[in-house]
Amino acid sequence: MTTSIIGFPRIGEKRELKFKTEKYFRKEISEQELKDFAKELRLKHWRLIKDAGIDTIPSNDFSFFDTTLDTAFLFNIIPEANKNLKLSQLDRYFALARGYQGEKGDIKALPMKKWFNTNYHYLVPQFSKTTDIKLTDTKIFDEFDEAKKIGIKTRPVIVGPFTLLSLSEFHDTNREDFVDDLISAYQEVFEKLAAEGAEWIQLDEPELVKDVVGNDKQLFKQIYKKLLKSKFGLKILIQTYFGDVRDVYNDLIELPVEGIGLDFIEGRKTKELVQSGFPDDKILFAGIVNGKNIWRNHYQHSLELIQSLSVKNIVLSTSCSLLHVPFTIENEEFSDEIKNHFAFAKEKLSELVEIQAILSGQDTVAEAQNIALFEKDRVIPNIKVAERIKNLNVDSFTRKPSLEKRAQIQKEEFNLPLLPTTTIGSFPQTREVKKTRSKFRHHEISQDEYDKFIAGHIDEWLKWQEDIGLDILVHGEFERNDMVEYFGQNLSGYLFSKNGWVQSYGTRGVKPPIIWGDVARTRPITVKWSKYAQSKTKKIVKGMLTGPVTILNWSFPREDISIKESTLQIALAIQEEVLDLEANGIKIIQIDEAALREKLPLRKTDWYSEYLDWAIPAFRLVHSQVKPETQIHTHMCYSEFTDIIPAIESMDADVISFEASRSNLEILDELQKQHFKLQVGPGVYDIHSPRIPSVDEITNTIHAILSKVPKEKVWINPDCGLKTRGITEAKASVENLTTAAKDVRKEL
Ligand code: GLN
Ligand code: ZN
Repeated sequence: MTTSIIGFPRIGEKRELKFKTEKYFRKEISEQELKDFAKELRLKHWRLIKDAGIDTIPSNDFSFFDTTLDTAFLFNIIPEANKNLKLSQLDRYFALARGYQGEKGDIKALPMKKWFNTNYHYLVPQFSKTTDIKLTDTKIFDEFDEAKKIGIKTRPVIVGPFTLLSLSEFHDTNREDFVDDLISAYQEVFEKLAAEGAEWIQLDEPELVKDVVGNDKQLFKQIYKKLLKSKFGLKILIQTYFGDVRDVYNDLIELPVEGIGLDFIEGRKTKELVQSGFPDDKILFAGIVNGKNIWRNHYQHSLELIQSLSVKNIVLSTSCSLLHVPFTIENEEFSDEIKNHFAFAKEKLSELVEIQAILSGQDTVAEAQNIALFEKDRVIPNIKVAERIKNLNVDSFTRKPSLEKRAQIQKEEFNLPLLPTTTIGSFPQTREVKKTRSKFRHHEISQDEYDKFIAGHIDEWLKWQEDIGLDILVHGEFERNDMVEYFGQNLSGYLFSKNGWVQSYGTRGVKPPIIWGDVARTRPITVKWSKYAQSKTKKIVKGMLTGPVTILNWSFPREDISIKESTLQIALAIQEEVLDLEANGIKIIQIDEAALREKLPLRKTDWYSEYLDWAIPAFRLVHSQVKPETQIHTHMCYSEFTDIIPAIESMDADVISFEASRSNLEILDELQKQHFKLQVGPGVYDIHSPRIPSVDEITNTIHAILSKVPKEKVWINPDCGLKTRGITEAKASVENLTTAAKDVRKEL
């Protein structure tokens, strides 16, 4: 048995690639300097993987921005406007990723989307009538060659044709129109790689773990039947991840390929599928080490799994690319006791090698250590939390009275005008705000000084909100670094790494907190500043919380208890906070669920049974115990929830705000059709751009909304929080919003 991995983090141990690339963006270093640096980094990573004892190593998993973009760039799947830019190859590439505005032209960036169920984003290739597929880049060959020169014969990786076509957008064309040209181009890659001395190529086909039926299945079969006719002697690995391939398993194992990569971690059915039969003449790349989470592998479980498969040829591998975990645990400051439980990317390499050794009867030390690690309880359970979860019943998840009755009660309570105006929570996080938080964190300023600073900002922004006549105010979230870490820091059971960065897109990273133990609220989290703000104005100030599903989805979850149970623990903690806010005079509370939609399972058939059936009740648990007159708002960043409207409705909030301005309010038609009961605040302008919308523009949007939603149910707000905006544009935009709302109100 040998070992391999699907891909390795490319940003570097200390995010070196990020910092160098950003220097290049700021024109502080030359193109050659960046390229040389990237090359050194690749060599370093290959050597590191080799020295760890991994037998076969991928290449071309490196990227200056995104590997899907690399693949599109390789095949000349590039909008015309980009081709015409008189820029270097690298700058044209960056222009696709980030747009270009300068003396050589002005083009927009490609759209960006979440990569399957991860927090990584890929750039969406655009096909049009003029798309002319041919090889126009040499990255994949150059990198193979680079590694070859230091004596490592790598397995180049590229996004497979089925996934590429499935993820792309087509303008006045169909994906079927490009199949033949694309196949020829992939074959040309095979031919060239074979000529350079490559033995294998890895085609990443994660799209195969979704529901692959009907036309999709036809397309998959058609592509591979043709593609595999000319392999030029190259061995082909079809690599899948993020789930199991139940819809195409039987087709896959019949294909004339040499390797099939399957995910045994997220693929609930993978074991069963493989046990139903796996051909002797193929190699199973068995993804047994979790590429998405940071816990140590349970060796006994992995060994039992491998032994239960009765497959002749196995390569031990990761469940997906290690891109999704931080680089190494070595630079963290946790105690050894804690560190022992973690395996980041580098440590996962050793895990594969150790499992390999144990399977061949060696290395009993590692085995004994691993057994010992899992033998004793890692955390002391929180009995109180366990009790509370055990005692949950139907009432715990049911808010009373009904939505309609609450609406009546709240109408009298608040006496708001039609089209009440509000914002989504945060105001600009200026450099000054960030710097002051950082100084406080590093004990450079006292609690008192810090509090004065935050209070000053709240005062100033409350005054502005009153002046422009917003109806429901917010305190502005100046004390928060982000939506999850801020809450995690005030909950027991959370750990925070110093260097645990994971690439989110391009040069941007996130540092997800780690859920280490049972989660409970140890102290009030937001009460102080909400109460302060409310004491400063006669208007209502909305409390502002992050919901349990979002907190969980943006953390590294535990593996020793279910995600559902962890979410319920978080929900109970946030429930305490909700009740505390209510007891302290906060009458409207917004509970953000920005990440609820994005973690829907990849298979539609799993949406309810594997996710919504516990995620939605977890949200209800948070607010079920509040008084009828307390108004609960929720907020979602995307309006793409047409397909789960009943689930959204059963969150049973009183009001929901969501991003809508970029999607032409289409969501509202669907809400109307399905008789959506909640009050809605469809964002009336796009906050993702510094543009200031005019009063007229917003007035038109409000009219459009009113043509689809009864006026009694409409709130007026921006798309999202304003933390990423500058002060001037944020103020001007919201002022126009209130003016527009007042104008339209007069007509009603
Ligand atoms: N309340 C948060 C804010 O305004 C919501 C952010 C979000 O939905 N992404 O920043
Ligand atoms: Zn949002």
